[in-house]
Amino acid sequence: MEESKCKILLIEDDIVDQMALKRFLSTEKLSYDLQICSSISQAMETLETSQFDIIVTDFSLGDGTAIDILNLVKDIPIIITTGAGDEDVAVKAWKAGAYDYLSKDCNREYLKVLPKTIENVIKRKEIEDALERKQRNLEAIFDAVPVGLLFADENFLVTRANDAITKVFQKDYSHIIGKKIGEAIDCLNNVLGQQGCGNNPECASCIIRKNINNTLANFKPMYNVEAHPTFLINNKQTQIWLSISVVPVIVDNCKHVIVAVDDITERKQAEEKVRETMELKSQFISTVSHELRTPMAAMKEAIALVLDEAVGKINDKQRKFLDIASRNVERLGDLINDVLDFQKLEAGKMNLDIKQNDINQVVSEVYEIMVLFAKKHKVELVTELDTMIPQAQFDKTKMIQVLTNLISNAIKFTPENGKVTVRAFPVRDSDNGNILELALSVSDTGMGIPQEAISKIFDRFYRVKREGKEIQGTGLGLAIVNKIITMHGGRIDIESQVDKGTTFTVYLPMEHKVSPENVSVNIDNKLEKIIT
Ligand code: ADP
Repeated sequence: MEESKCKILLIEDDIVDQMALKRFLSTEKLSYDLQICSSISQAMETLETSQFDIIVTDFSLGDGTAIDILNLVKDIPIIITTGAGDEDVAVKAWKAGAYDYLSKDCNREYLKVLPKTIENVIKRKEIEDALERKQRNLEAIFDAVPVGLLFADENFLVTRANDAITKVFQKDYSHIIGKKIGEAIDCLNNVLGQQGCGNNPECASCIIRKNINNTLANFKPMYNVEAHPTFLINNKQTQIWLSISVVPVIVDNCKHVIVAVDDITERKQAEEKVRETMELKSQFISTVSHELRTPMAAMKEAIALVLDEAVGKINDKQRKFLDIASRNVERLGDLINDVLDFQKLEAGKMNLDIKQNDINQVVSEVYEIMVLFAKKHKVELVTELDTMIPQAQFDKTKMIQVLTNLISNAIKFTPENGKVTVRAFPVRDSDNGNILELALSVSDTGMGIPQEAISKIFDRFYRVKREGKEIQGTGLGLAIVNKIITMHGGRIDIESQVDKGTTFTVYLPMEHKVSPENVSVNIDNKLEKIIT
C-alpha cells in the first residue's frame, strides 16, 4: 500500500528561501505534499480548510512572528527556522512550544537536515499523542471507579482525586488538589469547620491519619478500615460509615498513598435492618408458636374426652365431625412443631448433642414408633440391619427425627399394599475396605417424585403438586432433615421413579466435624405468613 505523503505547510515570506526549499525537495526526490504561505494571515486561512502533519515556519514574518503562530496553532508540531546567530529567538520559540528549530545559513546547508528533523518531529508527535490518549483513558477509568480515590504525597497533600470522591462526601472536589487530605476527605477532626490532618491536636488519634502514616512508614497496604465520622451534611449532623483502604504507590519517584474511601452507610444500615428484622421474626415465630401450643393441647384433650364418651354418648355423625376436628388439631400440632424446629435450626439455636451412637438402635426405635402408622396406611414396614456396623458420632434424637420424617413420608406417599424398607449399612473404601461413612436408606414402592421436582424437594414449604386427594403435610419435613444432616457434615441422595418408588439415602461421616451451617440465621418470610 502506498504510504500517505507527509503534508507540510511552509510559512516563509522570502521568495528565494521558498524556491530553495522547492528545488531541494525536487533534486532530493522527496515526495512531500508541500504548501507554501507567505504570511501568518494567509497560513491561518489555509489551516481553516486544510490539514497538515507539520508546519515549518520562518521566525520573522511580515505580519508577526512564529510565537504568534505557536499561540494560534495547538495541534500541529512546528519547526522554526531562524536567521543565523538568532539562537535567543530559537530558545524563546522552543519555550513557547516549538518542536525544533533550524538556523538558516547562507549555503542553505540547513535544508539537508530538514528531512531528518521533520521525521523526528513527526515521530515525537505520534508518541506524545499516544501517551496523551493513554493518559486520557487512565483518567477516564480513574474517574469511573465507583469508590472515592485520592492520591496523597508524604506531606498528606492531595495530588489527585477522582469523581466518586465528590459523590461520597457530597461536595465539590475540583479545588482540593494541593490541599491537606484532612480537608479533602473530611477526616474525623475537621468536622464542623475545624482543620483536620495535622492542624488539630486530635489528629494523632484519627484513624484515617493513622492508616496513612502506617502505610507510608511500612509501605504496606491497609484494607477496609471502618470509620464512622459525623459530617455536617445539609446543615444536619449525619453519621456516615466509611470503609477506608490505604495503598502505597511510588509516583514520580516519591512515596504516595492511594486512599480509597467507600461509603458503606446504606449497606450497613440495610444489614442492620435485616438483622433486626430477622431477630424480630425469629422472636415472633417462637412466641406465637409457644402461645399456640397451650390452647391446642386443651382442644386436643377436650376432643379426646368427648370422643371417648367420657362426657356422654355421641352418635356416628358427631363422631365423624369430631374425628375431622381431631385430625386437624393433630395437623396443626405437627405444623407448629415443624415451624419451631425449623426456626431453631435456621437461627442456629439448635445445638447438636454429638455422642458415640448405634445407628441400628435408631432404626429399631423409629420402627417401633412408625409400625402402627404403617399399619394404618396398610403399608408393610421392614428393616434390614447390618449387625457389623460400628458406632458413629451423631445426635441420636436428631437422627430419630430424620428417620421418622423419611419413613413417615415413605408411608404417606405409598399406596395401600405397598412396602417401605429401611436399611442401615456401612460404606467401605473399595481399596482397603475401611468404613468411610454410615448409610441409612428408606425405600418405598410409592408414587415417586418427578425428575424436575427433585432439586426443589428440600426447599421449605415445597410440596409436589399431585392430582387426586391431597396428602397432608407441612412441606418442612425434608428441609429439617436436610438441615440436620448438613449440621452433621453428611449428605442425602434421592433416587426416584414416578409410580415405582423412591429411595432416600442419608450418608453420615463416622466422626463429626463442626459445620458452618450450625450458625446460619435465615428465616423465610413464608414462615411469617403461616403463623399470621
Ligand atoms: P411434607 O411431607 O410435609 O409435605 P416434606 O418436606 O417432608 O413435606 O416433603 C416435601 C414433598 O416431597 C412432599 O410434599 C412430597 O411431595 C415429596 N416427597 C417426600 N418424600 C416422598 C416420597 N417418599 N415419595 C414421594 N414424594 C415424596
